[in-house]
Amino acid sequence: PPLYRQRYEVVRQILKEERWSPLPTKVVEFGCAELAMFQYFKQVSHISEVIMVDIDPHILDYYVCRASPLNSDFLNPRQNPLHVEVLCGSVADCDVRLLGANAVVCIELIEHLEMDIVAKLERTIFGFIQPDIAIFTTPNSDFNVLLKGMLGKFRHYDHKFEWSRSEFSDWTNKIISQYPHYKVEISGVGVPPEGKEDVGYCSQLALFIRNHDYVPTQSEDAKEVYTTCRTYDHPGK
Ligand code: SAM
Repeated sequence: PPLYRQRYEVVRQILKEERWSPLPTKVVEFGCAELAMFQYFKQVSHISEVIMVDIDPHILDYYVCRASPLNSDFLNPRQNPLHVEVLCGSVADCDVRLLGANAVVCIELIEHLEMDIVAKLERTIFGFIQPDIAIFTTPNSDFNVLLKGMLGKFRHYDHKFEWSRSEFSDWTNKIISQYPHYKVEISGVGVPPEGKEDVGYCSQLALFIRNHDYVPTQSEDAKEVYTTCRTYDHPGK
Protein backbone atom coordinates (compact mmCIF):
# COMPACT_ATOMS: atom_id res chain seq x y z
CA PRO A 1 0.00 0.00 0.00
CA PRO A 2 1.08 3.63 -0.44
CA LEU A 3 2.93 5.26 2.43
CA TYR A 4 -0.03 7.30 3.69
CA ARG A 5 -2.11 4.14 4.08
CA GLN A 6 0.79 2.39 5.80
CA ARG A 7 0.81 5.26 8.32
CA TYR A 8 -2.92 4.91 9.08
CA GLU A 9 -2.50 1.16 9.45
CA VAL A 10 0.46 1.48 11.82
CA VAL A 11 -1.51 3.95 13.96
CA ARG A 12 -4.51 1.59 14.01
CA GLN A 13 -2.26 -1.30 15.08
CA ILE A 14 -0.82 0.78 17.92
CA LEU A 15 -4.32 1.71 19.15
CA LYS A 16 -5.24 -2.00 19.09
CA GLU A 17 -2.23 -3.18 21.11
CA GLU A 18 -3.16 -5.28 24.10
CA ARG A 19 -0.56 -3.70 26.37
CA TRP A 20 -2.75 -0.60 26.93
CA SER A 21 -4.62 -0.55 30.17
CA PRO A 22 -7.22 0.76 29.81
CA LEU A 23 -7.66 0.11 26.09
CA PRO A 24 -8.21 3.51 24.47
CA THR A 25 -11.88 4.43 24.20
CA LYS A 26 -11.63 8.16 23.48
CA VAL A 27 -9.26 9.27 20.72
CA VAL A 28 -8.37 12.78 19.53
CA GLU A 29 -6.80 13.41 16.13
CA PHE A 30 -5.27 16.81 15.34
CA GLY A 31 -4.76 17.84 11.71
CA CYS A 32 -7.39 15.34 10.53
CA ALA A 33 -7.53 17.04 7.07
CA GLU A 34 -9.60 14.82 4.73
CA LEU A 35 -10.72 12.56 7.62
CA ALA A 36 -8.93 9.68 5.95
CA MET A 37 -7.86 8.15 9.28
CA PHE A 38 -11.48 7.92 10.40
CA GLN A 39 -12.27 4.56 8.80
CA TYR A 40 -9.23 3.10 10.59
CA PHE A 41 -10.38 4.43 13.99
CA LYS A 42 -13.80 2.96 13.30
CA GLN A 43 -12.28 -0.51 12.90
CA VAL A 44 -10.92 -0.48 16.45
CA SER A 45 -13.78 -2.01 18.40
CA HIS A 46 -12.96 -0.55 21.81
CA ILE A 47 -12.98 3.05 20.54
CA SER A 48 -16.31 4.69 21.41
CA GLU A 49 -15.49 8.37 20.86
CA VAL A 50 -13.42 10.06 18.17
CA ILE A 51 -12.73 13.79 18.12
CA MET A 52 -11.12 15.05 14.92
CA VAL A 53 -9.75 18.59 14.79
CA ASP A 54 -8.37 20.69 11.95
CA ILE A 55 -7.72 24.41 11.63
CA ASP A 56 -9.02 24.56 8.04
CA PRO A 57 -12.84 24.96 7.94
CA HIS A 58 -13.02 24.40 4.18
CA ILE A 59 -11.32 21.01 4.20
CA LEU A 60 -13.59 19.92 7.06
CA ASP A 61 -16.77 21.11 5.31
CA TYR A 62 -15.77 19.28 2.16
CA TYR A 63 -14.81 15.96 3.76
CA VAL A 64 -16.85 15.81 6.97
CA CYS A 65 -19.39 13.36 5.55
CA ARG A 66 -16.62 10.75 5.49
CA ALA A 67 -17.31 10.33 9.21
CA SER A 68 -21.03 9.79 8.69
CA PRO A 69 -22.48 6.35 9.41
CA LEU A 70 -23.11 4.26 6.30
CA ASN A 71 -26.12 2.04 5.63
CA SER A 72 -23.88 -0.92 6.35
CA ASP A 73 -23.14 0.48 9.83
CA PHE A 74 -26.85 0.14 10.63
CA LEU A 75 -27.26 -3.26 8.98
CA ASN A 76 -24.14 -4.66 10.60
CA PRO A 77 -23.36 -2.46 13.60
CA ARG A 78 -20.04 -2.48 15.43
CA GLN A 79 -19.85 -3.84 18.95
CA ASN A 80 -19.90 -0.43 20.67
CA PRO A 81 -21.67 2.75 19.58
CA LEU A 82 -19.28 5.39 18.27
CA HIS A 83 -19.68 9.09 18.90
CA VAL A 84 -17.81 11.34 16.46
CA GLU A 85 -17.12 15.07 16.72
CA VAL A 86 -15.47 17.01 13.92
CA LEU A 87 -14.20 20.31 15.31
CA CYS A 88 -12.56 23.30 13.72
CA GLY A 89 -9.77 24.78 15.78
CA SER A 90 -6.05 24.86 16.45
CA VAL A 91 -3.95 22.41 18.39
CA ALA A 92 -2.51 25.54 19.99
CA ASP A 93 -5.77 26.01 21.92
CA CYS A 94 -7.21 23.89 24.72
CA ASP A 95 -10.87 22.92 24.32
CA VAL A 96 -12.65 21.20 27.21
CA ARG A 97 -13.98 18.49 24.86
CA LEU A 98 -10.45 17.15 24.44
CA LEU A 99 -10.23 16.16 28.10
CA GLY A 100 -10.43 12.51 28.98
CA ALA A 101 -8.87 11.32 25.73
CA ASN A 102 -6.79 8.17 26.18
CA ALA A 103 -4.98 8.60 22.89
CA VAL A 104 -3.93 11.57 20.76
CA VAL A 105 -2.89 11.14 17.12
CA CYS A 106 -0.99 13.68 14.95
CA ILE A 107 -0.15 12.23 11.53
CA GLU A 108 2.12 14.47 9.43
CA LEU A 109 1.02 17.56 11.37
CA ILE A 110 3.99 19.01 13.26
CA GLU A 111 6.05 19.82 10.15
CA HIS A 112 3.22 22.17 9.06
CA LEU A 113 3.51 24.24 12.25
CA GLU A 114 5.73 27.19 13.15
CA MET A 115 7.87 26.44 16.20
CA ASP A 116 5.79 28.67 18.51
CA ILE A 117 2.74 26.57 17.59
CA VAL A 118 4.71 23.35 18.14
CA ALA A 119 5.43 24.62 21.66
CA LYS A 120 1.70 25.25 22.21
CA LEU A 121 0.90 21.79 20.81
CA GLU A 122 3.18 20.30 23.48
CA ARG A 123 1.28 22.18 26.18
CA THR A 124 -2.15 21.20 24.76
CA ILE A 125 -1.28 17.53 24.48
CA PHE A 126 1.07 16.81 27.38
CA GLY A 127 0.05 19.59 29.78
CA PHE A 128 -3.72 19.77 29.18
CA ILE A 129 -5.02 16.51 27.71
CA GLN A 130 -2.37 14.27 29.35
CA PRO A 131 -3.43 11.21 27.33
CA ASP A 132 -2.23 7.66 28.10
CA ILE A 133 -0.56 7.60 24.68
CA ALA A 134 0.27 10.15 21.97
CA ILE A 135 1.41 9.23 18.45
CA PHE A 136 3.23 11.58 16.06
CA THR A 137 4.50 10.95 12.55
CA THR A 138 6.65 13.35 10.53
CA PRO A 139 8.98 13.07 7.53
CA ASN A 140 12.49 11.74 8.18
CA SER A 141 14.80 14.13 6.33
CA ASP A 142 17.64 11.55 6.43
CA PHE A 143 15.54 9.61 3.90
CA ASN A 144 15.43 12.58 1.49
CA VAL A 145 18.74 11.64 -0.16
CA LEU A 146 16.75 8.87 -1.84
CA LEU A 147 14.26 11.44 -3.21
CA LYS A 148 16.95 13.68 -4.73
CA GLY A 149 15.81 15.50 -7.84
CA MET A 150 12.15 14.98 -6.85
CA LEU A 151 12.10 17.61 -4.13
CA GLY A 152 12.24 21.33 -3.63
CA LYS A 153 13.57 22.36 -0.25
CA PHE A 154 11.09 20.02 1.44
CA ARG A 155 8.70 17.23 0.47
CA HIS A 156 5.74 19.66 0.55
CA TYR A 157 5.52 23.42 -0.03
CA ASP A 158 3.71 23.97 3.29
CA HIS A 159 6.35 22.21 5.43
CA LYS A 160 8.02 24.56 7.88
CA PHE A 161 10.77 22.01 8.63
CA GLU A 162 11.71 18.39 8.08
CA TRP A 163 13.71 16.78 10.86
CA SER A 164 16.51 14.25 10.72
CA ARG A 165 16.26 11.30 13.09
CA SER A 166 18.51 13.04 15.54
CA GLU A 167 16.50 16.28 15.46
CA PHE A 168 13.27 14.34 16.00
CA SER A 169 14.82 12.43 18.85
CA ASP A 170 16.01 15.71 20.43
CA TRP A 171 12.42 17.02 20.27
CA THR A 172 10.98 13.91 21.91
CA ASN A 173 13.65 14.00 24.63
CA LYS A 174 12.90 17.64 25.33
CA ILE A 175 9.22 16.75 25.84
CA ILE A 176 10.14 13.95 28.19
CA SER A 177 12.40 16.15 30.25
CA GLN A 178 9.51 18.61 30.62
CA TYR A 179 6.88 15.89 31.19
CA PRO A 180 8.91 13.17 32.95
CA HIS A 181 5.86 10.96 33.51
CA TYR A 182 6.06 10.05 29.79
CA LYS A 183 8.48 7.74 28.01
CA VAL A 184 8.91 7.51 24.25
CA GLU A 185 9.34 4.74 21.69
CA ILE A 186 10.60 5.79 18.27
CA SER A 187 9.92 3.77 15.13
CA GLY A 188 8.92 4.52 11.57
CA VAL A 189 6.81 3.79 8.52
CA GLY A 190 8.00 3.09 4.96
CA VAL A 191 11.07 0.86 4.78
CA PRO A 192 14.02 2.08 2.67
CA PRO A 193 15.11 0.03 -0.37
CA GLU A 194 17.59 -2.80 0.12
CA GLY A 195 21.10 -1.57 0.70
CA LYS A 196 19.89 1.88 1.83
CA GLU A 197 18.84 0.89 5.34
CA ASP A 198 21.13 3.52 6.89
CA VAL A 199 18.74 6.37 5.94
CA GLY A 200 15.96 4.97 8.11
CA TYR A 201 12.22 4.96 7.49
CA CYS A 202 10.50 7.41 5.14
CA SER A 203 8.27 8.72 7.99
CA GLN A 204 9.43 8.67 11.59
CA LEU A 205 7.01 7.86 14.39
CA ALA A 206 7.10 8.72 18.09
CA LEU A 207 4.84 6.94 20.55
CA PHE A 208 4.67 8.63 23.95
CA ILE A 209 3.41 6.51 26.83
CA ARG A 210 2.33 7.92 30.18
CA ASN A 211 3.45 6.13 33.35
CA HIS A 212 0.74 4.02 34.95
CA ASP A 213 1.13 5.55 38.38
CA TYR A 214 0.85 9.17 37.24
CA VAL A 215 -2.40 10.86 38.28
CA PRO A 216 -3.40 13.56 35.73
CA THR A 217 -3.79 17.08 37.07
CA GLN A 218 -7.21 18.76 36.82
CA SER A 219 -7.94 21.68 34.48
CA GLU A 220 -10.79 23.56 36.11
CA ASP A 221 -11.41 26.49 33.80
CA ALA A 222 -11.39 24.82 30.37
CA LYS A 223 -14.05 25.98 27.91
CA GLU A 224 -15.34 25.08 24.47
CA VAL A 225 -13.17 27.13 22.12
CA TYR A 226 -13.38 25.10 18.91
CA THR A 227 -16.27 25.39 16.46
CA THR A 228 -18.35 22.27 15.96
CA CYS A 229 -18.39 21.29 12.32
CA ARG A 230 -20.50 18.12 12.77
CA THR A 231 -21.26 15.34 15.23
CA TYR A 232 -22.33 11.83 14.28
CA ASP A 233 -23.49 8.82 16.23
CA HIS A 234 -22.77 5.38 14.84
CA PRO A 235 -24.93 2.59 16.22
CA GLY A 236 -23.63 -0.31 18.29
CA LYS A 237 -25.04 -3.83 18.67
N1 SAM B 1 -3.31 13.86 9.16
C1 SAM B 1 -3.62 13.96 7.75
C2 SAM B 1 -3.56 12.58 7.13
O1 SAM B 1 -2.87 11.73 7.65
O2 SAM B 1 -4.21 12.37 6.13
C3 SAM B 1 -2.67 14.85 7.01
C4 SAM B 1 -2.39 16.12 7.71
S1 SAM B 1 -2.09 17.50 6.61
C5 SAM B 1 -0.58 17.12 5.95
C6 SAM B 1 -1.85 18.79 7.79
C7 SAM B 1 -3.17 19.32 8.33
O3 SAM B 1 -2.90 20.06 9.50
C8 SAM B 1 -3.88 20.25 7.37
O4 SAM B 1 -5.18 19.76 7.11
C9 SAM B 1 -3.92 21.57 8.11
O5 SAM B 1 -5.11 22.31 7.89
C10 SAM B 1 -3.82 21.12 9.55
N2 SAM B 1 -3.30 22.12 10.49
C11 SAM B 1 -2.36 23.06 10.27
N3 SAM B 1 -2.15 23.80 11.36
C12 SAM B 1 -3.00 23.32 12.32
C13 SAM B 1 -3.27 23.67 13.67
N4 SAM B 1 -2.61 24.67 14.27
N5 SAM B 1 -4.19 22.97 14.36
C14 SAM B 1 -4.85 21.95 13.77
N6 SAM B 1 -4.65 21.57 12.48
C15 SAM B 1 -3.74 22.25 11.77
